[in-house]
Amino acid sequence: MNNTADVIVIGSGIVGSSTAYYLAQKGQKVLVLERDNIGDGASSRNGAGVRLSSRVFPESALAEEAIKHIWPVLGEELDADLEYTAPGSLCLAQTETQMRALQGSLKKSKAYGAEVHLIDGDEARKICPCLSDKVNQALWCPEDGYANPMVTTLAYYRKNRQMGVRYITGEDVRCIKKYRGRARKVITAEGNVYEADKIVVAAGFNSKRIAETVGIWLPFLKRVDECIVTEAVAPLTKFRLSTADGNFYGHQTKHGSFIFGGNTNLERYESTYDQRPRNTNKQSSDKCRAVSKYIPALRDVKVIRQWAGWLDSTVDRLPIIQEIPEVPGMILSCGYSGHGFAIGPAAGKVTSQVALGEETIVDISSLCYNRFKPSGC
Ligand SMILES: Cc1cc2nc3c(=O)[nH]c(=O)nc-3n(C[C@H](O)[C@H](O)[C@H](O)COP(=O)(O)OP(=O)(O)OC[C@H]3O[C@@H](n4cnc5c(N)ncnc54)[C@H](O)[C@@H]3O)c2cc1C
Repeated sequence: MNNTADVIVIGSGIVGSSTAYYLAQKGQKVLVLERDNIGDGASSRNGAGVRLSSRVFPESALAEEAIKHIWPVLGEELDADLEYTAPGSLCLAQTETQMRALQGSLKKSKAYGAEVHLIDGDEARKICPCLSDKVNQALWCPEDGYANPMVTTLAYYRKNRQMGVRYITGEDVRCIKKYRGRARKVITAEGNVYEADKIVVAAGFNSKRIAETVGIWLPFLKRVDECIVTEAVAPLTKFRLSTADGNFYGHQTKHGSFIFGGNTNLERYESTYDQRPRNTNKQSSDKCRAVSKYIPALRDVKVIRQWAGWLDSTVDRLPIIQEIPEVPGMILSCGYSGHGFAIGPAAGKVTSQVALGEETIVDISSLCYNRFKPSGC
């Protein structure tokens, strides 16, 4: 078997596969190594949100590139119905504290030119009649939307295969080795050795363990996040709904089910590399309570499935995208901190540009790995 490539990408999530997609478009011979099944990480387990609002720079610039330029044509490019739609979102508030939080989101979003409007409860109910009359205010963002995570991740895989990208699953990358000062070899748990001029590490939280083998320490936490899906119900709303508290976000799918994610403050932090993410029942009941308070029509609807996935969280909740100066040839693209599905297509484009030594479409100089040190980027 030929074990060499121009670029090896470690991880077949949306970041790894979109990077491979843009590299293949430029004629690069790309090999993707995946430990589990295709897209088995967060990319096929997320809450589907494709949001422009409430970001900070430079993630806001990646979101703009993704939402204004890539997502609207991605289905056509990948020959798949990604169920992408941008009907707008409503972030909801009932209490004074929550309304103050919406003011903060408004300011943050306006700072980079996102179209956002603060509206009162009655206006929100006019847009979305299923909302509770306890909703007092909402942040209306007409450019936000959602897509199907599993379909999108697999669509990249299928398109990449057609374009000549090789994927090998069941290859658990354990180590990168340098040759003449540059990252050159990738070694897996089976002892297989692969070689390339450039190595992109897009392995979610496990990027930490891989980077450590060439002396790079990443300040990551691994958080288990969960989603729930309801039985299918008649069409109720097309908007993406969330709360100022962040205790739920979600939308109704084409099929009729609602998918909800959200923060409950009960999320587990872990430091293991090998376990599969497991559900707790705690997060789901908390989300159901929150949803019932805002969408009374869903109070008696059954939850039919739940799942868990990992977030690779950095302290500032921004990713790391950089060719590492101490390890030329190794490009990190990880730490997406729960925001990586929406920006994944743009992140892959930028990562491919870094790998090819091209100027990037977005200024990512502040996304270096050592920004947490006093010396900064
Ligand atoms: C419950 C949940 C809800 C979320 N909701 C949203 C949302 O609504 N909107 C949004 O934008 N984002 C959301 N996210 C975050 C988003 O899913 C991630 O940020 C994004 O998928 C990260 O993509 P990735 O390619 O970097 O990582 P992953 O998709 O995790 O891909 C990494 C891949 O690397 C593989 N891998 C790991 N170790 C190795 C190894 N040693 N060797 C080879 N391969 C390896 C993994 O198996 C995996 O396939 C959510 C995440 C979760 C868990």
